[in-house]
Amino acid sequence: MTRENFTQNTKDHLARAANFRCVRPGCQKITHSQSTDGKKIVGTAVASHDIPASPNGPGNNIGLTPEQIRAAENGAWLCAICARLVDHDRVRFPTGTISEWQKIAASYITQYASTPATPTGINLRQACQGAQLFCNKTNNFHIEGYINWAIEISWQSICAMESLIGECHFLGPLNALTTFFPHTLNLQYRALDCLKTLLTMFKTSGYWFYDESFKAYRLVQLPLFGSTESQRQDQQSAVSYAWKIWNEFNESIYILRQFSLGAYAGADLLLW
Ligand SMILES: [Zn+2]
Repeated sequence: MTRENFTQNTKDHLARAANFRCVRPGCQKITHSQSTDGKKIVGTAVASHDIPASPNGPGNNIGLTPEQIRAAENGAWLCAICARLVDHDRVRFPTGTISEWQKIAASYITQYASTPATPTGINLRQACQGAQLFCNKTNNFHIEGYINWAIEISWQSICAMESLIGECHFLGPLNALTTFFPHTLNLQYRALDCLKTLLTMFKTSGYWFYDESFKAYRLVQLPLFGSTESQRQDQQSAVSYAWKIWNEFNESIYILRQFSLGAYAGADLLLW
C-alpha cells in the first residue's frame, strides 16, 4: 500500500487558503521567507494530513478512499513544529482536529480579505465631529402620524431636508459633514437617499395634500369619498412605504450617532 500524498496543487491550495501561516490556533507562524541572498524562498511548513496518508498511520481505519485522503478537506497547513507535534501526539490532537483548524483559519482569512481595509490617514476625531454635525442637522426633521396609517410632515422639515441634501452634495475632505470612513459614509448616503425618496413622494404622490392651516403635508389612510378599491390600496401602500423609508432613515442616523458618541468617549471603533 502506498502513501496518499497531496498533489502540489492541493498543497498550494492549503497554503494560500491559510495565507501562508500555520493554522494551529495561537501559532499562526509565517511559513515562508526569503533567503538572505534573495534567491530562494524558504518554506518551513508542511501540508499535514488529518486522516494519515499512510495506510498504517493511526486513525486511518475509517474507510476513506485514496481520493478522500488526498483531498484538501483532509489537510491543514502547519508549521514544521506544529506538524511534528500533531503527528506524534494523536491522543492530544485526535482525528478531525487539524482539518477543523484549517477550516476556521480559511474562513477568517476569507473574511479579512473581503472586508474593506480601514483607510489610513483619517483623523478619527474629525470623522466623529462630521457624524455629530450631520446628525444634528436632522434634529428638526419631524414626521408625525400613526405607523402605516397616517403621516404628516411640516413645511419646515421639508425645507430642512432639502437643505441637508444640498449641503451633502459633495461629502469629502472639504465638507465638515463628512465622516470619511466607508462604513459611515455609506450610512450617510443611505440616510440622504431616504430623504430624497421621501421628498419625491411628498411632491409627486397624488394622495398627499397640503394643509394650509398646519403648514404640513399630510397623507392619511382613509377611504376618500368616491375612491376606488385600487386607489385605496395604492394610498395604503404609499403610507406604509413612507413609514418604512422614514424608519430606515432613523436607523442610519442612530448608528451614526453611536459612532460619534462612542469615539468621543474614547471607545474603540464599534463598527468594523
Ligand atoms: Zn505552528
